[in-house]
Amino acid sequence: MLGYTSSSIMNFRKFKRFLIVFLCVFLMLIPAFSSKAATEDNPDEVLTVGVPADRCPIFYEDADTGEIVGIGVDLMRSAAKNAGYNATFKTIEEATLKDALDNPAYDVILPFGSAITSTGGQASIVSENLFQTPFTLVTEGHHDMPPINVLKIGMLHSLSGGADTVHQLYPEIQITMYDTMQDCVQALRSDEVNALLHNSYVWSYVLQKPSYSDLTVQPSSMFSMDFRVGAADTEKGRDIIQRLNGGIASLTDTERQAVILDYTSRRLYRMDFGDFLYKYGVFILLILLLFVALIIIGVQRVYSIRKKNEEKLQQMIDHDPLTGVLSMRGFRKRVVELLSTHPDTPYLLAYVNIKNFKYINDSLGWDAGDDLLCFWADKTRKTLSDQETMCRINADRFAVLRCVGGEEKLRFDDHEVVDSVRNYFLDQGKETRVQICGGLYVLTPEDYRDVNVDHMLDLARVAEKKVREMRSDGYEFYNPQQWEKGKHIAEVTNLLPAALEAGDIQVWYQPQVDYETGKITGAEALCRWDHKKLGWLQPTDFISTLEESGLIFDLDKYVWDKVCQDLHRWNEQGHRRFISVNVSRCDIREDRDIPKHFHDLIKQYDLDPEQLRIEITETAYAENSALLIRTTEQLREYGFQVEMDDFGSGYSSLHMLKEVPVDRIKLDLRFLTDAGDPERGRIIIGYMIRMIRSLGMQMITEGVETKEQADFLFSQGSTEMQGYYFHRPMPVQDYEQL
Ligand code: C2E
Ligand code: CA
Ligand code: CA
Repeated sequence: MLGYTSSSIMNFRKFKRFLIVFLCVFLMLIPAFSSKAATEDNPDEVLTVGVPADRCPIFYEDADTGEIVGIGVDLMRSAAKNAGYNATFKTIEEATLKDALDNPAYDVILPFGSAITSTGGQASIVSENLFQTPFTLVTEGHHDMPPINVLKIGMLHSLSGGADTVHQLYPEIQITMYDTMQDCVQALRSDEVNALLHNSYVWSYVLQKPSYSDLTVQPSSMFSMDFRVGAADTEKGRDIIQRLNGGIASLTDTERQAVILDYTSRRLYRMDFGDFLYKYGVFILLILLLFVALIIIGVQRVYSIRKKNEEKLQQMIDHDPLTGVLSMRGFRKRVVELLSTHPDTPYLLAYVNIKNFKYINDSLGWDAGDDLLCFWADKTRKTLSDQETMCRINADRFAVLRCVGGEEKLRFDDHEVVDSVRNYFLDQGKETRVQICGGLYVLTPEDYRDVNVDHMLDLARVAEKKVREMRSDGYEFYNPQQWEKGKHIAEVTNLLPAALEAGDIQVWYQPQVDYETGKITGAEALCRWDHKKLGWLQPTDFISTLEESGLIFDLDKYVWDKVCQDLHRWNEQGHRRFISVNVSRCDIREDRDIPKHFHDLIKQYDLDPEQLRIEITETAYAENSALLIRTTEQLREYGFQVEMDDFGSGYSSLHMLKEVPVDRIKLDLRFLTDAGDPERGRIIIGYMIRMIRSLGMQMITEGVETKEQADFLFSQGSTEMQGYYFHRPMPVQDYEQL
């Protein structure tokens, strides 16, 4: 029952073949059915319309849909529909309508004013007028327009058809064509043309651009232009145009007005970035400036807050929280600062420590210990000047940087500070005497050059340790010799200003003579100090100290001034004299114009520059020859005589002779005769004198103590001399008597 017979199998195969053929025929027929169905749904023929798309609101591309829309599109679509066409719009890519007419891709083209011949020579045919478009002139501002016969107008290239019409209507008008609206406007603004001509509807769109606000529409329209559909003058073209004419005729005026109103009433212009900048540029700039200003203010504020915090932090770590004096860290910084700003002040560094501090803490309590430290710090701080400083190193250890002030100051410190600290508890009725051990280190010149606070403190600590181990309390110097020296410097420098003020410094004169004639040729000014306690001091007692402390310049200025006063007085009395003054090598510095100083002096006292002879010691030239040579040259330019003092004292005398442009050499007999074989000395002196003479320089010999020396020098050719043999230095009154 379930088996298949061969005939039933045959029937099944036939059926299958029939089914395949049927399906094929069916599939082939589907497109025919569907196209028929479509034609019945939409009977219009497709009409491809080429239009320019750069003419909003007549033809333009909708920004949202990308479709070509506009007044011209809507009206054309209606007319075409009336004529049984389904119009589709295509943007004309060609430069002009004449070019587009040769493109078979478009069935018809818009807009034509009248029939034209294509670039390729093809004649055209145009439809009835679709609608009338007014053309208007636009000028820059409210410029008056020149008469029509000299009018120059600018138009867009794409309106070449319109240009032809204008030309036919007004042959006198000069028309210039431009590629873009921007070019047109630029030509108008640069007065290349008097006005621009375009479709009024397009103007209503274009003039919405903010940067064109200076353009004005001339109220009277120039002319109206037809807006026709054009096609190649072929059979197909003629057929389409004929059908379209029917469609155009069915368009009512109301319909036309409605479409025009619809588009011209919309704000179609979309501002681009340039417009935006033009319109809101100043505003944006102001906002930007405000923003930048805010950022700058903000950054500055953050910076100043941060700086203040840093300063606060620095302040904290640079100070000891218990006593309020500097911490070790702050002290290091302050010492470096002080030594660099006061390189000439002699300083000592004290390391001080309470020997029985642990006992005090244990017996009287920590608070009592703290009170003592605060008392001590306070007492010391009150005695310090601005040039001094102190710190609490740690626990009961203090360091003090103090100017060396001699024994008196030391005694004062001992009494004012140390004694009151010693008796701090005794004064409170407690039976504890505070034991203070101190080590003092007197700073050496090297300490100023390369400041190493810790090293100096170590040395002070060595002295302090000695006290702690040997005695109950007291202080000790690490370097007593330096202390003696420092004390002397301190005494001299502390007293100098008062001495100058009080006239304790005097200028003495040592005459210089011509051995041949016996006449006095001049004198050297030498200072003397009538010291209150120590009696008459010779320059050797204090000159080097003043040089070390930097005060020599004060003394020298004083001496030079006194000398000039004397010279002035003598001039008034009719005695023209010549005086040599000493200039310390420390006086000559980059920041001091010594030549100018002397020049001002002689101007002040009405002296001849050659009356002042300026002695600069030979060794100074070796130390800073460039500056010295420059100074010497300037002094000579001012007319002063420059003498090289102490010639023969240095190691480079001969070399100096070659380099330095001085007027006179001052040979010092003592350097050449004091030591060694006198006979050899004489030979050397003889050669030196001859050499100086051969170089054509003037010379004087000083330190002449005997007649033999004078005779010998004279025999060798040195006639000018200075020395005890002739005269010792003498007060000014004695010199005047001579
Ligand atoms: P100097 O410039 O070489 O001055 C000459 C020194 O030799 C003077 O010493 C003078 O008294 C001394 N003297 C003169 N004749 C003889 C002599 O025959 N035998 C001996 N043994 N000595 C003689 P004084 O006045 O003590 O001056 C010493 C130095 O002090 C001067 O040496 C000069 O370098 C310096 N000096 C003196 N007054 C001033 C000054 O006002 N300013 C500066 N910067 N330095 C000065
Ligand atoms: Ca001298
Ligand atoms: Ca000398």
